[in-house]
Amino acid sequence: MSELREKLLYKPKHGLDRLSETERQEMEAYSRAYMSFLDHGKTERDCVDTAIELAEARGFVPYAPGMELEPGKKVYVNNRGKGIMLAVIGKQSLAEGAHIGAAHTDAPRLDLKPNPLYEDTELAYFKTHHYGGIRKYQWVTVPLELHGVVVKADGETVRVTIGDKPTDPQFVINDLLPHLGREQGKKPLNEAIPSESLNILVGTQPLRDDDGSDRVKLAVLAYLHNAYGITEEDFISAELEAVPAANARELGFDRSLIGAYGHDDRVCAYAELHAILELDVPEKTAVCIFADKEEIGSEGVSGMMSEAFDYFMESMCKQQGVDLRTCYSKSFCLSADVTAAYDPNFAEVYEKRNSAFVNYGVGLCKYTGAGGKSGASDASAEVVGYVRNLFNQNGVIWQMAEMGKTDAGGGGTVAKFMAQRNIDTLDAGVPVLSMHAPYETVAKLDCYMTYRGMKAIFEDAR
Ligand code: MN
Ligand code: MN
Repeated sequence: MSELREKLLYKPKHGLDRLSETERQEMEAYSRAYMSFLDHGKTERDCVDTAIELAEARGFVPYAPGMELEPGKKVYVNNRGKGIMLAVIGKQSLAEGAHIGAAHTDAPRLDLKPNPLYEDTELAYFKTHHYGGIRKYQWVTVPLELHGVVVKADGETVRVTIGDKPTDPQFVINDLLPHLGREQGKKPLNEAIPSESLNILVGTQPLRDDDGSDRVKLAVLAYLHNAYGITEEDFISAELEAVPAANARELGFDRSLIGAYGHDDRVCAYAELHAILELDVPEKTAVCIFADKEEIGSEGVSGMMSEAFDYFMESMCKQQGVDLRTCYSKSFCLSADVTAAYDPNFAEVYEKRNSAFVNYGVGLCKYTGAGGKSGASDASAEVVGYVRNLFNQNGVIWQMAEMGKTDAGGGGTVAKFMAQRNIDTLDAGVPVLSMHAPYETVAKLDCYMTYRGMKAIFEDAR
């Protein structure tokens, strides 16, 4: 009878029970590298810079149309500093298709408004406009850093990074004290902190020897002018992002988890990057994408809907005398994005038989979407079958996952934009606890297995 059980029933096992000692050590080393990547990649721009640094150290060079693309050649395209595409040319022609990993490195955050600085009651603030889906109540009383660029009147671009060094000041959005929060406490969670109250406190010291009504604001501008040479009008051509200030840390007595800002989706982006950097001469051309703008719908020139990707692929295809559409039709893409991990504290929104669990490996999602799979790419059984078998053959610990109960909500990824290009695509990624919060939680095992899965795809000859 137990033989029959073994043969017929699907019984996923805890990932940590399935790791060899060598794998355990590799997982720890991988996790350390990932945590360092996170600490250097607090924004999409920072992620691109960090990726370029790591890639160039492994022999990747900037791609130029027309360059020689012999097997094993390693190239990258920097898409306006906000996205990056890396490729390792395979033994087979691009006519046989490419093996692609597509993740995103933008994360929910608070962007400064174009005219952000004001003073109220001798307190200076920045107005923010949140980027991506956030639960606003989570972003008050959290230490913040400021990262981004300012393009000045003379055209010079200034990089701004404040708050990540131990001696730097940080910033905060204040909340009401409980003593006076009686009315606020009665409001629904999503109304208690309105968007227009997400104002960052940036200074309280008035400019000396000035008698204007905005002496604190002026003092902030004087500081900024001194430090970066910028004026108030320069904010108009700036992209300044307020992001949570904490660095990545191991969590739990057993250190099995990683807490950090921006796991969604840097945890999958790093998995792809780590995998492609290790390639020598793959069978198929391997392509790793860090897309921007996923959190606001993948629109924009640096998003996955942009032709920047097609331009890069077509240019490489031309070099091999291959039609881009032929290449796409034979390609495979893993849309590497996080999924929701089952959280027993909120069991009511999950459907336990079809949830992703922490420590059960990379989560494969046949479909995402909401309300009857709306907006989902919905991979075919054949595509799921391919990945399932490939992962099994390569010792990749994986699980099948839906995001939550059918009626509870939903979400999307870049999968549908790859599928639209006639590329077979499957969603897969790391299960995350408190996704989109200023501080998200993932398990080391799931991070490591996402990398192992990505590596198996890049190395596969199908
Ligand atoms: Mn995501
Ligand atoms: Mn997201």
